[in-house]
Amino acid sequence: MKILVLNSGSSSVKYQLIDMDNESVLAKGVVERIGITDSVLEHEPADREAIVIKEDIPDHAAAIKMVIEALLNEEHGVLNDIDEINAVGHRVVHGGEKFASSILIDKEVIKEIEDVSDLAPLHNPHNLTGIRVCNDLLEDKPQVAVFDTAFHQTMPNRAFMYALPYEYYERYGIRRYGFHGTSHKYVAQRTSALMDRPLEDLKIITCHLGNGASITAIDGGKSIDTSMGLTPLEGLMMGTRCGDIDPAIIPFVMEKEGLTMAEMDSIMNKKSGLLGVSGISSDSRDVEAAAGEDNKRAEIALEMFDYRVAKYVGAYVAAMGGVDAIVFTAGIGENQKRTRADVINNLKFLNIKLNKEANNSRGKEILISTEDSSVKVFVIPTNEELMIARDTQEIVSAL
Ligand code: ADP
Repeated sequence: MKILVLNSGSSSVKYQLIDMDNESVLAKGVVERIGITDSVLEHEPADREAIVIKEDIPDHAAAIKMVIEALLNEEHGVLNDIDEINAVGHRVVHGGEKFASSILIDKEVIKEIEDVSDLAPLHNPHNLTGIRVCNDLLEDKPQVAVFDTAFHQTMPNRAFMYALPYEYYERYGIRRYGFHGTSHKYVAQRTSALMDRPLEDLKIITCHLGNGASITAIDGGKSIDTSMGLTPLEGLMMGTRCGDIDPAIIPFVMEKEGLTMAEMDSIMNKKSGLLGVSGISSDSRDVEAAAGEDNKRAEIALEMFDYRVAKYVGAYVAAMGGVDAIVFTAGIGENQKRTRADVINNLKFLNIKLNKEANNSRGKEILISTEDSSVKVFVIPTNEELMIARDTQEIVSAL
């Protein structure tokens, strides 16, 4: 079975075509700058050079058409016929409380995704556009929605409720939903495989540290708490997002600076985090380079980032009453040895010990704790696309 995995954003569509017979990626790529100038498709067949096609791409329909054409192209394609695509798996950011697992898309599901869109106005409408375009272009192919929030629907009330008047939860669905669920679930499953122990017996803390960053406490295979909240703004310090702050800061700064709600929202989402504190960049590599040249604010930003990860890990050890494995994934988690070292060195009191040599590794699956460490620490590159394809295959095979 061949599955097309789509991640439709506001001005981009990322895709992978996966052959589920051996879970190999036949081709992958990204369409960027949809609807603006300099649109571009980068297409990478598994066995040939990547190609770049620069062309006007006015909307998502044109973008997804181009992706299908690239997959069928005589020179750089990987399919002879569109019918070789058996199903499409879509990443959908917010499933609210309606979706605790992936689901076959029909009219009702589309309506329900629309209904929860006000919880993720920057994401869900674009995910829906991708679904609608595929309904038109590949109308006879089954389509499956895989939600970032679904994995976290197992959180107990005490973890997902905010201490606000209860009516806001009932009226507006204000609660913690959590994100990156597909990634947290994938690395937890890999941890269980690497440890050769059933997920049901393990307490795992997964640290997804990319531009967006979140940590999850996974007890017996179930998410019992996670650092992102109603939106992906809460929790850790991120590339441009502030993460946890005292909520009273918001009206205070708005008044002092004469800001509107939208301006304040933009500052917290786009001008804070590593970028806001360092004044250098949202990219941890740039901030690290500046810190290496004695830029004080860059150093503070990195220290804050690592300290906050360590704090959440500590909190989740308490939330689960123990921990068997800690996992680092995503851009920073997979590559940034300083962050991993800072976090693990903070946990020495639990007898968790870092293997310094193994920690020098980048971007591959590896155990980075010492043999006598009380807890295993892994780096596991995430693979959200494969998870989406697996869920899609499972649902489509049962039809
Ligand atoms: P996104 O949330 O956009 O998917 P990524 O998972 O790609 O983000 O993570 C982006 C972050 O990972 C950036 O801060 C970047 O600096 C960091 N990163 C990526 N590659 C490396 C690397 N080789 N060394 C250090 N940091 C890296």
